[in-house]
Amino acid sequence: MRIGIIGGGQLGMMMAESVKEYDVEVIGLDPNPDCSLSYVAEGMIIGDYNDEASFEKLAKRVDMITYEFENVDLELINKYKNLIPQKSAALQYSRNRLTEKNYVSKLGIPTVKYELLTGDYVYRYPVIVKTTTGGYDGKGQQRIRQQSDIDHNRFSEDIEYIVEEFIEFDYEISVILTRDTFGNVVSYPIPINNHVNGILFTSLVTNEINKVIKGKAIDYSTRIIEALDYVGTMAVEFFIREEEVIFNEFAPRPHNSGHYTIEGCNLSQFENHMRAIMGEEIKDVKLINPTIMINVLGQNMDYTKGVSNDDVYIHMYQKKECLTNRKMGHITVVKADENDLKNIMREIIGE
Ligand code: ADP
Ligand code: MG
Repeated sequence: MRIGIIGGGQLGMMMAESVKEYDVEVIGLDPNPDCSLSYVAEGMIIGDYNDEASFEKLAKRVDMITYEFENVDLELINKYKNLIPQKSAALQYSRNRLTEKNYVSKLGIPTVKYELLTGDYVYRYPVIVKTTTGGYDGKGQQRIRQQSDIDHNRFSEDIEYIVEEFIEFDYEISVILTRDTFGNVVSYPIPINNHVNGILFTSLVTNEINKVIKGKAIDYSTRIIEALDYVGTMAVEFFIREEEVIFNEFAPRPHNSGHYTIEGCNLSQFENHMRAIMGEEIKDVKLINPTIMINVLGQNMDYTKGVSNDDVYIHMYQKKECLTNRKMGHITVVKADENDLKNIMREIIGE
């Protein structure tokens, strides 16, 4: 079988790596001939994601298509929907924070309090203002704790913003789950995610997450994936405050906080995603041992040096340009003993 992947970043690369043992050829579509996926795929089409001719070329060469990032043209997705099991609904809602939260609240799931920022909006602090579209890794966000934090220069007349209540959460989690064309849903052990400056820094997975929280989080995420009739792996992010599970956002693709599944679980988020895209049944998953995933951003390249341990796995994404806050790779540590796990992590990040 031939599978087309729209987007050649690290997610596309790890999707392709996950099916190396299968009778599958991967053809990528990305404007950058040196993208991460190009090192793993059997073929590449170099072109813009939203260029109809490139899209058509890809569609002609493959049996199924998946996308690994969110800014793909919805009309093109709809045009080729028979080849794209992920379909367009999940994309359509997730790429606008307002429609995304409206959709999820209608399903009866608690979200942060939010509203569209209008000219006569009266601030009740503290809040976080986000662009409704185009933001990722904390980009396009402003935290406003008091009047003097408001920087009007950072607001543009032409851009739509959403104002959210700033949640003093205890911690953040994400549910990584996969749904196949038969309607089976499998959810992965839940990571606790630690963000620094709005960017994921670490995901820690143990079997010890509170049962009430786990129950709510899996119930909410399953409701979302089923309502969207989505096929493939997706992630749903939540804030946890005591036993409240508050929806933040979802991503209709494998997710950074699910990278731990490559070594931490019997079967990765990428492999189940590709199985679902191929029309195969997905498999049940379990945690092998407590696991931590650490992102390697451009400014943290030294994390990869001097770590010598059998339980440490380094993934680099082969990106040519090393920039501050750019995700260059990640490191996963799997250890039966949680204290050992944390000690190795401290060693890696130099604390
Ligand atoms: P992105 O699309 O950039 O991931 P998010 O909405 O997930 O955007 O925000 C990134 C991070 O910023 C979150 O994971 C969380 O740590 C923090 N954050 C976002 N919204 C809120 C909020 N309403 N209250 C508190 N923290 C928030
Ligand atoms: Mg997020």
